[in-house]
Amino acid sequence: MSTTESNKAAVRGRLFFANPGPTNIPDSILRAVSQPTVDFMSASFLALYDGCMAGLKRILKTQQHIFFYTASGHGAWEAALVNVLSPGDTLLIVETGYFSQGWAEMAEALGVKVQTVAADWRRGVDVAALTAALAADTGHTIKAVGVVHNETATGVALSLPPIRAAMDATGHPALLMADTISSLGCFDFRMDEWGIDVVVGGSQKGLMLPTGMSFTGVSDKALAAHKTSTMPKHYLNWTAMMGRRHKSFIGTVPIAFFYGLAESLRLLEEEGLDRVFARHHRLAEATRRAVRAWSGNNGPQLFCLDPSRYSDSVTAIMMPDGFNADELRKVCFDRFNVSLGGGLGPLGGKVFRVGHMGDLNEPMILGTLAAVEMALSVCGIPHAKGGVDAAMAYLAQAPEAMAEAA
Ligand SMILES: *Cc1c(COP(=O)(O)O)cnc(C)c1O
Repeated sequence: MSTTESNKAAVRGRLFFANPGPTNIPDSILRAVSQPTVDFMSASFLALYDGCMAGLKRILKTQQHIFFYTASGHGAWEAALVNVLSPGDTLLIVETGYFSQGWAEMAEALGVKVQTVAADWRRGVDVAALTAALAADTGHTIKAVGVVHNETATGVALSLPPIRAAMDATGHPALLMADTISSLGCFDFRMDEWGIDVVVGGSQKGLMLPTGMSFTGVSDKALAAHKTSTMPKHYLNWTAMMGRRHKSFIGTVPIAFFYGLAESLRLLEEEGLDRVFARHHRLAEATRRAVRAWSGNNGPQLFCLDPSRYSDSVTAIMMPDGFNADELRKVCFDRFNVSLGGGLGPLGGKVFRVGHMGDLNEPMILGTLAAVEMALSVCGIPHAKGGVDAAMAYLAQAPEAMAEAA
């Protein structure tokens, strides 16, 4: 970033941070995490900590178990794998994109055999292909199915109940593991009702916290599988964690994260989860309407081709052939103080991403969309005008009308 920083003309006002993680941290969370250190065994901290554990269970919609890690989301990915699998076990990964590949690569590095249900990144998996893979595994060598709920690289979200239904229909006993890092706190997720055995979550996306803490929701069934797992593990070992007062953390408890989490949970529950989800949907739909308008004249397009799988937390936008997304991002950043997400893996330069998750409202998303529309002109990228107008027209509607129009 150093070269782009040095070119920056716009230094006053807030940076409009529109990356799909990390995300904007609300002022009240910034204040909360800056409180003085206390002993993590003190009564006052334990009360706050227990409140966080109970509150996060309400967000996950579970009555089962949670383990926390002082690590970014990758740490929780690893915890999910090493705690329930054994070397040589098979993990069935449902391909979504860059993040499903990353989780699969990690499993392979740990000595797990990975089988993949392949998918077109612009549409997501055909559930029938998953059902077929499960049905073919008559010997039940697949020990777990790994799914990314919201593929942050593509803006394609996968409904989880049909995945559970595919497993139930084939009577397959594998554990169902879901990565909710970029969906939790953004759109609906129900661990217990949907029969998810291991849920992977992180701090810096929908939960609006700094990066560096992650967690897993764990079902009784997954905990039973953990008892026979022979994968080497120590810092991430659930059995060791269960022996501690905090039922997590082998070392020092990162107290500042819990000051922040308590405030994050307070904010989410003050607004009400359903209203949080409705707000994400509104801002996402406004973004999609802007992109649809720009797509005229062979302009940029929505990367996701299945409207039933549009993500309400991130939109990936594909550039017209011959135009580089990173040039557009650079103009947005240097001239307009707007930070956008780039394309990941094979999508590098081909897509840019607008994060609309966490602490975000109408004028913030409109500011971002206006910067993109200006940058499309500045860069000479073919497009049709009127994206921001389309977003404004949508957002100006009464909330009930918006729900119907969506
Ligand atoms: C961000 C993200 C990750 C990786 O999390 P880190 O905190 O960067 O380690 C994994 N999966 C998904 C879906 C993500 O969005």
